[in-house]
Amino acid sequence: MSAAKQVDAIREAQHGKVSTRVPGHSMTGQGKVLDKAGFWPTREKVGSTQCECGERSPELDSNMKRRAWHRQHKLDVLSS
Ligand SMILES: [Zn+2]
Repeated sequence: MSAAKQVDAIREAQHGKVSTRVPGHSMTGQGKVLDKAGFWPTREKVGSTQCECGERSPELDSNMKRRAWHRQHKLDVLSS
């Protein structure tokens, strides 16, 4: 990804306009709690989700918070 594109992606993500797609960092289950293998969404209300890269979120109590974690994770990836 070019530097200019990266900056665009970060800006868009910060404004929450689009869900930034970062190759290798998609998320299964729309913020649902994933099982320990990080693959199958479960019906749990509290728990962690996982990025495609294997990064595991902390235990969070809503899909919205888990999605926010993933958004931040992708920003961290883009800006590192
Ligand atoms: Zn990731």
